[in-house]
Amino acid sequence: MIEYQDSSIHVKDSILWLDATKKKGLSFVSHAHSEQMSVDHDKIIATKETIEFYKKIILKGKPLNALQMSYFRTFSIGDLTLTLYPSGHTPGAAQLLIKKNETKILYSSHINIQNNMLCDEIYFPKADELIMDSVYGNIKYQFPEKEKEEENFKNYVSEQIKQGFFVVILANPYGKSQYIIKLLEKLNISIYLQNKIYQYTQLFKIFGINFTNIKPFVNTIKEPSVIIHPYENVNKILTEKKNIKVISLSGLSVDKDYFHKLHKLDESFVLSDNSDFNGLLQYIKIIKPNKIYLLPGHNSLSFKEILKDLKYNVEEFVTSKPKSLF
Ligand SMILES: [Zn+2]
Repeated sequence: MIEYQDSSIHVKDSILWLDATKKKGLSFVSHAHSEQMSVDHDKIIATKETIEFYKKIILKGKPLNALQMSYFRTFSIGDLTLTLYPSGHTPGAAQLLIKKNETKILYSSHINIQNNMLCDEIYFPKADELIMDSVYGNIKYQFPEKEKEEENFKNYVSEQIKQGFFVVILANPYGKSQYIIKLLEKLNISIYLQNKIYQYTQLFKIFGINFTNIKPFVNTIKEPSVIIHPYENVNKILTEKKNIKVISLSGLSVDKDYFHKLHKLDESFVLSDNSDFNGLLQYIKIIKPNKIYLLPGHNSLSFKEILKDLKYNVEEFVTSKPKSLF
């Protein structure tokens, strides 16, 4: 029922693509992270939240052609019956269940089976076949208890502010930044947001999510405070200010040496909007697919071997390379 072309998934004999990375006539857009949201398609299928970000990030004023769908509502395109379900990953993030004849195929995109206060809780639709991204599909990615790690993070930030440091938190502008703001909201400290993060956070008001204690970042701030900034172009702040601690929250923090070197961090916390290794296995156990397709990625090879050992019928999509003439 599916094929892998142009580094994206295509539903055979239909116009539908899933998170296509090149311009297509119709693509499902699972959520508003950059890999999923990179092209201006003729038409998209997405949730209300994802569409708002698609307008801001991709269209920039160009007219929108979108099929806005709510979770759990079934609709048809040709002979395909489609339903979106929450994936627990970021606000508005969706899995897509496609039914053709009697076969159900589920595209998970990124999932988080642990509850995040900003997202709808994940739903586990039964499916015959599952297409998934093995983000943390390596046994080394086993995350500590979430609540404990959140406490460690909050305590660290409070302590650094008390000692007179600026705490620069590197984060994805969509999803992770707002999760961080929610975690720190009750500490009663000033949170300054880099311009893009501030704009994205303002968009959350449309979805009824409000934040307190946030301000746009300006160079002139003097009092010890939190600054949330994307991973890119952070050097300017670091050279302009003294007394800075640079930290981050990510599943990659399991591998602290590597992660700290990569982004020149002082500290990091294992808090992710993706499920860890055990979470991915638990998800598969509940979905009970007869066949699993893995999207190519850093951990897809190791995850494929583990799933094979567990007797799953698993296949990894391979990016087709043009054949050499010689
Ligand atoms: Zn994502």
